[in-house]
Amino acid sequence: MEVNYSYLQEQFEDHKKIFDDLDKLIETCDYTLGEELEKFEKSFAEIIGTKYVIGVGSGTDALFLSLKALNIGVDDEVITTPNTFYATVGSIVTAGATPVFVDNNEEFTIDVNLIEDAITKKTKAIMPVHLTGCPADMPEILNIAKKHDLQVIEDACQAISAAINGKNVGTFGITAGFSLHPLKNLNVWGDGGLITTNSDDIKDKLILLRNHGLINRDECAVFAYNSRLDTLQAIVGNHLIKQTDYITNTRIENAKLFDEEFSKLNGCITIPPRRENFKQVYHTYVIHAKDRDKLLSYLLGKGIDAKIHYPIPLHLQPAAKYLGYKEGDFPVCEQHTKSIITLPVHQHLTDEQKQYIIDSIKEFYR
Ligand SMILES: *Cc1c(COP(=O)(O)O)cnc(C)c1O
Repeated sequence: MEVNYSYLQEQFEDHKKIFDDLDKLIETCDYTLGEELEKFEKSFAEIIGTKYVIGVGSGTDALFLSLKALNIGVDDEVITTPNTFYATVGSIVTAGATPVFVDNNEEFTIDVNLIEDAITKKTKAIMPVHLTGCPADMPEILNIAKKHDLQVIEDACQAISAAINGKNVGTFGITAGFSLHPLKNLNVWGDGGLITTNSDDIKDKLILLRNHGLINRDECAVFAYNSRLDTLQAIVGNHLIKQTDYITNTRIENAKLFDEEFSKLNGCITIPPRRENFKQVYHTYVIHAKDRDKLLSYLLGKGIDAKIHYPIPLHLQPAAKYLGYKEGDFPVCEQHTKSIITLPVHQHLTDEQKQYIIDSIKEFYR
């Protein structure tokens, strides 16, 4: 049996309906911005529960443009964690600011107990990452931010529909960035990103920043960028967004089944803490495994597309050399890279595939 990590083939089986709407686009020639994008932004705002959503070119741009809209750049520091996808840090650096890392906790999100030690006179913002689709501890992060007068920009790229006490991620910070990349829970046919915000002022700035700073065709308020969510991708998004609950709930069910089965393998598999009031959406299903490297090759040999998210923390990447970090600086994150393994958890797994994953892991430890 084969269990793939990617499910794009199944995801877009129904693509004929999307093609019909693309045909209409050819007639209207409404290729940039326009009605379909507005419709998509509105639907997304309803799902997350923010006043505004601004569609941009990618999740990376969503974070980068958020920093720009907040005037965060040269000589400023932004606090984040070393256990994340490169783009979190890439957005901070391309905005001109300096990333400052804080170790993560057992939930793979930023350890809120360590944030205050990392704050300096230059700190302007905290960028927590809801990694794996598990919310960072936003209430506590907002407390710290308020006390030190810092902005909070959520990296929610992996976390559509994740929530704390029923309040969605993407509604806590001044802005949040979401990604529509093909490998994310809600995806389109290429790159795309969304920014959520409740601030009128920031929304106005972002509308300018994503579209050359144009007030209208002939007037430019500020020299800026071209990072609009493609209308074509918005059309794809308008179709898939209807599946958001199905995608989310199926992933949660799959994770629950795995948690139950693997908790029987005490001492071999360790499941990260699951808080009652946290809704995790399992963009990735990450657990700790004894003899991880052997298990990984065993599973790959059995056709199960297991992975590691991520094998090298960002502070130890060649790109981070100039920041001066060294091995040992973030012990929790570094320890995790040796034990974590990611299993397919997506909404298109069949019962047989799920059972095959479970049986294979049990067999390995027998
Ligand atoms: C995917 C991702 C991004 C970047 O999103 P793109 O749409 O690929 O630019 C940023 N942060 C995290 C945590 C991600 O997983």
